Amino acid sequence: MQRTFAIIKPDAVRKRVAGQILARIESEGFTVRALRMIHLSKAEAEGFYDVHRERPFFGGLTDFMSSGPCIVLCLEAPDAIRKWRDLMGATDPAKAADGTLRKGFGASIDNNATHGSDATETAAFELGYFFRGMELR
Ligand code: ATP
Ligand code: MG
Repeated sequence: MQRTFAIIKPDAVRKRVAGQILARIESEGFTVRALRMIHLSKAEAEGFYDVHRERPFFGGLTDFMSSGPCIVLCLEAPDAIRKWRDLMGATDPAKAADGTLRKGFGASIDNNATHGSDATETAAFELGYFFRGMELR
């Protein structure tokens, strides 16, 4: 078993499709190990996306991520990191395959509905950023 960190981003919560995304998470075989709705501050979003600090889209990305509540999750499944990224689809919804979450619910590369960790190290950092050990038992 493996765990990954996921976000249902503010655009998806605003569009009221969070429930559909959660239903898909369950029907695809993930176990939800932890879940919380939070409205990130700009500084919290900046800390989360620290690896992208030098990128030109950093300001817009952290404004967007702090623009409204999002839902943070710990998902568990065999090969969860890869499996969740496959279910999300390409970063740009226009390039995402049919049947993926970003194709179905994303509007653009900066409003792309979901986030997923990209490696075991980032999953550990991101889960620790949002959840206390007690919540992840
Ligand atoms: P995520 O980390 O959100 O799961 P990802 O790993 O597919 O997505 P990253 O390269 O880590 O993509 O970029 C993080 C986020 O930054 C993307 O989800 C997207 O919202 C935003 N982003 C990435 N590239 C661009 C871009 N060229 N213009 C605007 N926003 C971008
Ligand atoms: Mg990423």
